Amino acid sequence: MRVDVITIFPAMFASPFAESIIRRARDRGVLDLRLHDLRDYCTDRHRVVDDYPYGGGAGMVMRPEPAWRAIHAARDGARRGAVLLTTPQGERFTQKMARELAACEQLVFFCGHYEGVDERVRALVDREVSIGDYVLTGGELPAMVIVDAVVRLLPGVLGSADSLAEESFGPLLEYPHFTRPAEFEGMAVPDVLLSGHHRKIAEWRRCQALRRTLRRRPDLLAQAELTAAERDLVERWRTGADEAD
Ligand code: SAM
Repeated sequence: MRVDVITIFPAMFASPFAESIIRRARDRGVLDLRLHDLRDYCTDRHRVVDDYPYGGGAGMVMRPEPAWRAIHAARDGARRGAVLLTTPQGERFTQKMARELAACEQLVFFCGHYEGVDERVRALVDREVSIGDYVLTGGELPAMVIVDAVVRLLPGVLGSADSLAEESFGPLLEYPHFTRPAEFEGMAVPDVLLSGHHRKIAEWRRCQALRRTLRRRPDLLAQAELTAAERDLVERWRTGADEAD
């Protein structure tokens, strides 16, 4: 996958994109990451990327001309892909969207700043994405979050495809994890996990995932494909007939 990031702070990406999974993806040639300094697309001597808002008011607005030039330069029309604008007004980023974006051959991120971008830049944007209902200073952190969530889904990036298969939001929350020692500070690892009985372990994990999801994110259960027995169990937990701890 090729990822292009248009930003006024390319240096912000140096460390997050040079470590861990993103680094591995780049080293393996799965990710071709290109950073574009928006100021390189200015034609004025001072490389100014912002201007005062028409109509007055607080703050500055990102100028359309450099943004337009940068997006045209970054987007490779021969690749199936999308131009993404990071904005708190966009559709909420989810694991489902991460999976959709992971199917693209190119993603171009435009990182906003100040009050945001001139409205006409949106004509070149395929998707507006928000990482949550809060306002950040700029679009760099959202772009990093999205790139991280997408790139780890690309084939060949994670050590084992199994770790993706059971992850949270698939659509349940994941079951609890334990490692050695078997007892720690008076807390014991559940016996079933020490039993070596694979079917029972799988059943326990599924049951825990259901309980966790019901307690923490009941909204996710509505989208989950459950067996009749599982629906029954969840219903009994829900009505208190059976206790979900
Ligand atoms: N004035 C804008 C508004 O009220 O919608 C907020 C602008 S914010 C200070 C500057 C930039 O940070 C935005 O253009 C966007 O690129 C980025 N940003 C801030 N919060 C974000 C969020 N929750 N998700 C995605 N991008 C965000």
